[in-house]
Parts: sequence; structure tokens; C-alpha cells
Amino acid sequence: MTEATKKHQYTLIILKPDALVKYLTGNILTHLLEARLRIVGAKVVKVSRELAELHYEHLKDEPFFDDLYEYFSGKAYGPDYERVLVFVSEGVDAISKVRRIAGATNPLEADPITIRGAYGRISKKGIMENVIHCSDSEESAKREIHLWFDPDEIIEEIYPTKTVIKNNYEVTEWA
Ligand code: UDP
Ligand code: MG
Repeated sequence: MTEATKKHQYTLIILKPDALVKYLTGNILTHLLEARLRIVGAKVVKVSRELAELHYEHLKDEPFFDDLYEYFSGKAYGPDYERVLVFVSEGVDAISKVRRIAGATNPLEADPITIRGAYGRISKKGIMENVIHCSDSEESAKREIHLWFDPDEIIEEIYPTKTVIKNNYEVTEWA
């Protein structure tokens, strides 16, 4: 890719519950920061079924979705791990860079030097426990960032916003 075609992008990254179970947070953040990606938003979220269905809308009617939700919500690992860490990262070619660092969806097919290749596994129920989610296009990054974050949780105005009045207070929402 030439300099001219490189693009400044935002991407949504989720460290799934297995990343927390395996104490991989620091390790994964090191990889991302070494790739010159800056964090512009971050939080811990307990994932509801509704949020999981919206996030994985392309999978919500699959027969394995109940098992995927058990995994993605962390319920499979017990109450101490019912959470994910969610980030918005920013940088040149951020989307493809993070997908490359993450590796292929199936951890058995992922390059062993990628996060999924090194730390992922297939569960007994057949779910690909692959440690990290990252947006796969500018369109899905925008959709996912709107879903997981409010505008005032991100330190830059990365998409258009609007101000509305709620209970006599001014609130900033995505436009
Ligand atoms: N997944 C799975 N089995 C499948 C397809 C997906 O367990 O046959 C899980 C896996 O954890 C994956 C997530 O659902 O990361 C979302 O699937 P997608 O095809 O969007 O892959 P990704 O974008 O995460 O690489
Ligand atoms: Mg995907």
C-alpha cells in the first residue's frame, strides 16, 4: 500500500472474557500500542443479550448463538469474568492493522504469531474462543462504535453529533 492510499481510521476493539481469564490485557495492549494505535475511548462492559444480538446481528439467528452469547458475555467463565474491555483505537490503517494483529477468526487456522493463533481455542461446544474482536471495515467500525459508546465517552468528535434536551439537561448524542 502506498503512502497516498493510507487512511486515518477508527476501529472498535473488544477484549473478550477469555482475554481477561487468561490475563492477556497488558500483552494485547502492548501489541496495539506498538502498532502506533492510540486509544481514544475505553470502558468495561457487562454484555446483555440485547447488546450481543445487536453487535453480532449477522449471527443472531445461527443455531450456535446461545453458546456464543455464553462465551461473549463471560457467563461461561463465572461471575468474576462477566465483562469485556472495549476500546476505540485510532491510527493509520487502524482497521486492517488490528485485523492483522488479531489473526484469522478460527484460532486453529490463525497464524501462531497473531493473538488468536497464540491464545485462542475452540470450546467443547464448538465456539471459537478467539480472545479479541475488531471491526472489519469502516462501515462496521462506525456501526459498532455507535452501538458501544456515547459521544462523550470518546475524547475526539469522530462522527457527527447532535445536542438534545433531556430532563432539562443538554445531552450529546450521535447524529
Ligand atoms: N464464531 C464462532 N463460530 C462460527 C462463527 C463465528 O464461534 O462459526 C464466533 C467467533 O468468536 C467470532 C465471532 O463469532 O469471532 C464473530 O464472527 P465473525 O464471523 O464476525 O468473525 P470475526 O469478525 O470475529 O473474525
Ligand atoms: Mg466480524
